[in-house]
Amino acid sequence: MRRMIQTEVRPMECDMCGKQATAMAEIEGAKLAVCDACGKHGRIVKQLPRAAPKGPASGRPIVRSAPIREQSEISEQVRKDLPEILRKEREKRKMTHEEFSAVLNVRASTYHHFESGAILPDVELARRIEQTLKIPIVQTVKTIKGEWKNDTETKKGLSLGDFIKTKKK
Ligand SMILES: [Zn+2]
Repeated sequence: MRRMIQTEVRPMECDMCGKQATAMAEIEGAKLAVCDACGKHGRIVKQLPRAAPKGPASGRPIVRSAPIREQSEISEQVRKDLPEILRKEREKRKMTHEEFSAVLNVRASTYHHFESGAILPDVELARRIEQTLKIPIVQTVKTIKGEWKNDTETKKGLSLGDFIKTKKK
C-alpha cells in the first residue's frame, strides 16, 4: 500500500505528476490526489478546493503610489545674502575682519571666506552667528526631491570642495 504523506495545510500535489491537485480520484483501487489531466485515468471521488492561483496572472497588480508628502522635504538653508549681512554688521561695528571674526567665534580666515561669499557656513555655525547678531540667517526651505538646484553661493562652496578633492589625489 502506498503511504499518504500529504499534510493538511499545504496545497495538495498530484500524486501522479506533481502538479497542483484538483481532485481526489480512485485509480487502480488507490485513492490519490490528482490534477485535471491525471484524474482522467481514474474515477473522481471528490473535487478539491482550488488554491488561489499564483503569479502575475492573479488579479490586478498592486500599484502603490507614495504619498506626495514623502517626496518633498523640509531643509534648512543658510541665507544667500549672508556675505552682505556680515559685511554690513561688521562695518556697523567699525571692526576689522579679525575683530569681527572674534565676535562670531570663527577663525579670521574662515570669516574672510564667509564675507567674500566663497563659502557659506554650515547650518549649525549659521545658527550661532544668528544668535550673536540677532539676525535671521538660516531659512527653512521646502524642497522637492531631485528638483532642488544649488544656488550660486553653494556652487562656489562645492567648487572649493572639488578643489580640495583634486588636491588630495
Ligand atoms: Zn497529475
